[in-house]
Amino acid sequence: MFSIPYGRQNIDEADIAAVEAVLRSDWLTQGPAIERFERKVADYCGARHAVAVCNATAALHIACLGLGVAEGARVWTAPNTFVASANCARYCGADIDFVDIDGETFNLSPDALEAKFEQAAREGTLPAVLIPVHFAGQSCQMREIAEVARRYGCKVLEDASHAIGGRYLGEAVGGCRHSDAAVFSFHPVKIITSGEGGMVLTNDPELYQRLLRLRSHGITRDPAQMRGEAEGGWCYQQLELGFNYRMTDIQAALGASQMDRLDAFVERRRRRVADYRRELEDLPLSLPRQLPETDPAWHLLAARLDQPQWRRPLFDALRAEGILANVHYQPVYQQPYYRQLGFRDGLCPVAEAYYQRALSLPLYYDLTDEAFDRVIQAVRTSLSEIAS
Ligand SMILES: *Cc1c(COP(=O)(O)O)cnc(C)c1O
Repeated sequence: MFSIPYGRQNIDEADIAAVEAVLRSDWLTQGPAIERFERKVADYCGARHAVAVCNATAALHIACLGLGVAEGARVWTAPNTFVASANCARYCGADIDFVDIDGETFNLSPDALEAKFEQAAREGTLPAVLIPVHFAGQSCQMREIAEVARRYGCKVLEDASHAIGGRYLGEAVGGCRHSDAAVFSFHPVKIITSGEGGMVLTNDPELYQRLLRLRSHGITRDPAQMRGEAEGGWCYQQLELGFNYRMTDIQAALGASQMDRLDAFVERRRRRVADYRRELEDLPLSLPRQLPETDPAWHLLAARLDQPQWRRPLFDALRAEGILANVHYQPVYQQPYYRQLGFRDGLCPVAEAYYQRALSLPLYYDLTDEAFDRVIQAVRTSLSEIAS
């Protein structure tokens, strides 16, 4: 029997033609496809600027640098995320800390955030940047989060890796209405893909210029940015220490082509999540609560079992049937690298309890009714055995 992954890409003939056209063109990298992809995403999201890079981890890194994160600064994120949301602060030499999640949405809790800000203000340990993560594709409560962050002079960088195509308060995620910048990932398991890829969106023209430089070695070719007179038309200047984080035109062409189907991808995922809610309703597990102000672009079907001791046998039983369930996420600070920095259990009790019972089921555009029924049958049968 074929196996069913927890997520996968969808590639059609238009995607292949778009990539082929780049391969036949003069530009494999630093050509026109990059700007086309950037413009398409920025326009879709209602953001002024977009900078495409080689992956979302790089996007988070240069966004942190652009927002002033440096040696000794403090950055906060949620523990219920992929390690890259925290690693980006460490790349800048900053200290990372974690704000607990809400027990219903599994997203960063505005109440926990408020309490942590109050304590940090008393102790003189306020962060420079907060990175809320739109877990599973549902936007965090950005209005509340931005309000409290602004009160404490903290910048906000959205890790929207899961959430392209989602909406919050009627507006597209990525428009940066409640943040300084937002990041998308185009890894193949995410909503749209460019093979590997990421993007930073912002409405701030200065941050935009800085991100362009950081993406490409810290170099500018713009005479207006140069120190002193350019010596000639060949001249470029390296103004700071940047990176080679560029995306290729091959990737950008794929990403731009996928943007044409973004709404269709998201719509299909929403319908599947509705199917899951209906079919799993009577089982001893819960799915993330959807808040009325959000229109998620469900990237993951993240279930929480009623009992932690059911997770491992259910995971193993599903795997044995070729259903490649997954777990999103172990709290980042429980990773050995972060433990070695001094993090201990108990820091974010809600995230820790959630992780113990978390199990992600298959969710992707091409998940057929047949495969979906197999998943539902396997979950129902295995869980009734395990939980009895
Ligand atoms: C996938 C992911 C990233 C990293 O994305 P890459 O494009 O693989 O670097 C960062 N944050 C979150 C929440 C993710 O899910």
